[in-house]
Amino acid sequence: MVDFHTHIGEVKSFSPKLKGWVRADVEDLLGYMEERWVERAVVLSLPPSSDPYARVVSNRELLKTVEPHAGKLVPFCCPNPLSGRAAALFRRMVGDGCRGLGELKVQLRIDDPRVVKLLKAAEGLGVPALVHVEEGPLFNYCHGIDRLEEALKQTPDLKLVVHGPGWWRHISAEPGGEAYPKGPVVGEGLVHRLLRRFDNLYADISAFSGLNALARDLEHARRFLEEFQDKVVFGTDFPCLSAEGQFGTDGAHLRLVESLQLPGSTVRKVLRENAEKLLE
Ligand SMILES: [Zn+2]
Repeated sequence: MVDFHTHIGEVKSFSPKLKGWVRADVEDLLGYMEERWVERAVVLSLPPSSDPYARVVSNRELLKTVEPHAGKLVPFCCPNPLSGRAAALFRRMVGDGCRGLGELKVQLRIDDPRVVKLLKAAEGLGVPALVHVEEGPLFNYCHGIDRLEEALKQTPDLKLVVHGPGWWRHISAEPGGEAYPKGPVVGEGLVHRLLRRFDNLYADISAFSGLNALARDLEHARRFLEEFQDKVVFGTDFPCLSAEGQFGTDGAHLRLVESLQLPGSTVRKVLRENAEKLLE
C-alpha cells in the first residue's frame, strides 16, 4: 500500500475535549506504516505557518529527515506562494530531492496567479502537486472550487491531486453549506464532472473529508470508486487526530475501502497503483 497523504510534526485536535499538541516523529510514521502494511508514504510539508492546527516539519528539515528512508518516504515540499521567490525556491527543493508540491494550503483562491505560478513550476518540473481545498467557516484554503477548472486549464500537464472539505462536499449535486455534510449523495456533483473532464486530475481520500464523502453513502461510494478507479488515491493525513484517535493508525480509511467489496483490481489501483503512477 501507498499512503499518499502523511505528515511529520505536531498536530492539534479541533475537539474541545482534547487539549495540547500531539507530536509524531519519523519513527512514529515508520511505526504506523509497519503496523498497517504501508510500504511507501508521501510526506507533505505545509507553507510556513499556514495552518494553526499543524506545526509540521519545515521544507528543509523534511528533506533531511526522510533522506535515510528514500524509496519508503517520498517528500513533497511547499514554499509560501506569497513569496515572490516561491517558484525559484521550489525548483531548488526539487533539485535537493523533493518529489512533488504540497501540501498547498494557503488562504488564497485556487486560481490566484500566485497559486497558479507555483502549480506551473511543478508542471514544468514534471512533478505532481497536492492541494487542500476548503471554504469557511474557519478557513478559506485554496478556495473557489468553481475556479478549479480555470486553474486546471492553465496547467494541462500537471498531475494534480486535490482533497479537503471544500472539494469532497461537492461529491453531491447538493453540497449544502456544511464542511462535512451527512446523508445520501444527491445525483452527481462538481467532483464527478471535473474528474471526468480532466485526465490530469486526481483526488485523495485522506482525513475526515475523504472518509466522510465515501462513508455517508456506501452505495454511491462503490459506484464512485468503480468509475474513478484510476483517479482516486488512498491517503490518511497521519498523524492528524480523528474521532477514533489518529488517522492512519486508526485504520478507518482502509476499513472503509475494504468494506465496499470492490473487485481486487479496483482496490489495488486505489491503495497502490494510482499512487505509483503519480510518483513515476
Ligand atoms: Zn494534510
